[in-house]
Amino acid sequence: MSIESRREFLRKTMIGAGAVSLASLAGSGCGGDPPAEARRPLVVSTWRHGLAANEAAWELLEAGGRALDAVEAGVRVSEADPEVRSVGLGGAPDGEGHVTLDACIMDQRGECGAVAFLEHILHPISVARMVMEKTPHVMLVGSGALDFALANGFEKTNLLTAEAEAKWRQWLLATSGREKTGAANHDTIGMLAIDEQGDLSGACTTSGLAYKLRGRVGDSPIIGAGLYVDNAVGAACATGRGELVMKTLGTFLIVELMRHGASPDEACRRAIGRIDERGWNDGDAQVGYLAIDKSGRVGASSLRPGFQYAVRDGSGDNLLDAQPA
Ligand code: ASP
Repeated sequence: MSIESRREFLRKTMIGAGAVSLASLAGSGCGGDPPAEARRPLVVSTWRHGLAANEAAWELLEAGGRALDAVEAGVRVSEADPEVRSVGLGGAPDGEGHVTLDACIMDQRGECGAVAFLEHILHPISVARMVMEKTPHVMLVGSGALDFALANGFEKTNLLTAEAEAKWRQWLLATSGREKTGAANHDTIGMLAIDEQGDLSGACTTSGLAYKLRGRVGDSPIIGAGLYVDNAVGAACATGRGELVMKTLGTFLIVELMRHGASPDEACRRAIGRIDERGWNDGDAQVGYLAIDKSGRVGASSLRPGFQYAVRDGSGDNLLDAQPA
């Protein structure tokens, strides 16, 4: 076979293989009735502040950029916004008044990076990406993560805004420092995107539970808990009481449910249901899950009413209410 005819043979074989894998994805990989045309590009993220974050991600996606770059750029908007009280700058501190950050990122190859209990760095998501791209490891924590960030060009920033400090002092007065479990604040940003090439990536970043015990790390930097991406199936991210998400490996569970036929919506509901089944729904905690599948279907669910998520695609942006499971 000449080189030219061999190339042609390979090209046809690859088109055939692509058709087979798309057909099997529609038939059994993602469940329900996926749209004939995949919806992409697409970006979704948790909470109202996801609208601004999606916009930054969308600029890259619309220009043909990669999902990985889009999710990093998107959540950086929330990290830098002092009005977002549970992410990056302006995030609520721990019980001792220190802002400690958790973040992770995962790409279409299943590669991932994370940082936890990181202080003084405005963009933990970018440090997480650097852990993924520059080290053989998945996660760095605490002073080791800070040293790594500083050695790689990140600068120290004071993340405790005057407003966050005043609120923390009020909390100290109100609880006389007795309350040791932190206070609910559900503003973690989790973001998932599909780019024009059909590749998926996700990012998740947070300052965690307000006034948490010093050293507490939640679900957000844990791959399979706060975030999971499988390029053949879909992706999911979480917000809310991290301990419940960690105990059920919520986002891994959602992606596995989608792999076995559930739609994103059903998978999110069943992952919320798992928390109930185990008897961990104390009626007070909130958990919100958001998922997309490979064909661009979006689903969400939560333990309680009030979880909102933002969706951006070629038809515009939307802020939607998730249905409690
Ligand atoms: N999931 C985050 C944590 O537990 C907080 C949140 O999203 O409310 O650290």
